[in-house]
Amino acid sequence: MNKNSSNVMALAPNTSNKRETVCIFGTGDFGRALGHKLIQSGYPVVYGSRSTQISNLIPKDAEVLGHAEAAQKAAIIIIAVQRQHYNFLTPLAEVLHGKVLVDISNNLKVNQYPESNAEYLAQLLPGSKVVKGFNTVSAWALQSGTLDASRQVFVCGDDLEAKQMVMNIVRALGLTPLDKGSLLAAQEIENYPLQLFPMWKFPMFLSLGLTAFFFFYCLALDVIYTYIYENNDFSFFIAITIPNRVCPVMALVLLALVYLPGIFAAIIQLHRGTKYRRFPDWLDKWMLCRKQLGLIALAFASLHAVFTLVTPLRAFISWRTSKGIISQALNNKTEPLNHTNAWLSDSYLALGILGYFLFVLLGITSLPSVSNNVNWREFRFVQSKLGYLALILCTAHTLVYGGKWFLSPSAYKWYLPNIYMLSLVVPCAVLVVKFVLIFPCVDKPLTQIRQGWERNPKYSK
Ligand code: NAP
Repeated sequence: MNKNSSNVMALAPNTSNKRETVCIFGTGDFGRALGHKLIQSGYPVVYGSRSTQISNLIPKDAEVLGHAEAAQKAAIIIIAVQRQHYNFLTPLAEVLHGKVLVDISNNLKVNQYPESNAEYLAQLLPGSKVVKGFNTVSAWALQSGTLDASRQVFVCGDDLEAKQMVMNIVRALGLTPLDKGSLLAAQEIENYPLQLFPMWKFPMFLSLGLTAFFFFYCLALDVIYTYIYENNDFSFFIAITIPNRVCPVMALVLLALVYLPGIFAAIIQLHRGTKYRRFPDWLDKWMLCRKQLGLIALAFASLHAVFTLVTPLRAFISWRTSKGIISQALNNKTEPLNHTNAWLSDSYLALGILGYFLFVLLGITSLPSVSNNVNWREFRFVQSKLGYLALILCTAHTLVYGGKWFLSPSAYKWYLPNIYMLSLVVPCAVLVVKFVLIFPCVDKPLTQIRQGWERNPKYSK
């Protein structure tokens, strides 16, 4: 009998699955897009608006009422109105008492107001429970349903239960809530959509500056110098030859710049004898954008690989090859194979291929979906040990290729070193200092410092 009744219960409609009504103040772009998505997810939606006339833009099945009337129908009210109009809420304080108010607003400038919009709302309506959320999702993304950008919705608020209610709605919409803590985090969340790739700014500017420098350096030595002193017009070098010199140089220099701040940090810690003092600001910032520097380096290395693969298709290369063959035919003499050159060219190609393979591996492991699946030790092994190996291989690739110019006076046009020599300065410096740092007499105290040992402890036991 009991068994039967439990079956009957299981078949009965589950009333707990019924979604609670959500109220939205404001029938603007965001209010309508969010309302549409909520209705699709099974939430009854009621709008609080200055005008109760239903336009065909309002989602079908939604009710439109005056603000006070609409607020009475729901425990959660989403305020889809700009901050500057929030004073219309003050007369509604009584009806909004105890309700959860979701502040979704954004500003036009970073830190536009002394307090965040959510804190301002909480000051206006102290009897309500204010939660910040949804401001990082755009109306367009909600409406088109593509949500191409991040699916994360940052949520913060002082009332845990209210925050939980909002996070449940976020999940029901197919988004991922990320609890950022109390309402104190609201300013940071409001500034978030105003940022444009903040971690990429320094790496981008640095790369652009260095690329321009190396490009004009090559242009001066390979095109202008040749034109002035040898009367040869090699201006077509601008299309492939020069980019194929600049790209590997940039890849190598940027890869070295990924590891250089770690070297500085180690030297500073050894000098201070403690890890409990902050690094200078510039070093902190540099360390934070190492991943971006590495990814830009990988992009340059990939371009170098593509440029190299198209080399046989170039008219200049075909002309140079056939010129060599014809001159041998005219002299009726076949040049013997130069074994040293054969070894050098095969070695530098092999080193380049291996270096590029590790480069790609570093790039893949820096992707969040991959790095989330390895533990800290594995991540450090790839990024540090294999990263240094990639730097060694790429430096060796450049040394084997460009080393021959070190002693040749013709390489010093206008007394300037060849671009390959320039590109080796930073990587070689990083590798030499790293080599010194792994000596046991240096590595031991550094490891102790990183484990908390201090040379002159501030608080002696
Ligand atoms: P909107 O299209 O300008 O709509 C704002 C709505 O606020 C109006 O449709 C109006 O609704 C109401 N309103 C305007 N003046 C008012 C007043 N004096 N008193 C009371 N209500 C007033 O703006 P929106 O793009 O939907 O943005 C709404 C909020 O969402 C803003 O705070 C914005 O920062 C935030 N947000 C927007 C997006 C987005 O992609 N659009 C993304 C994230 C966050 P009624 O006519 O129905 O009263």
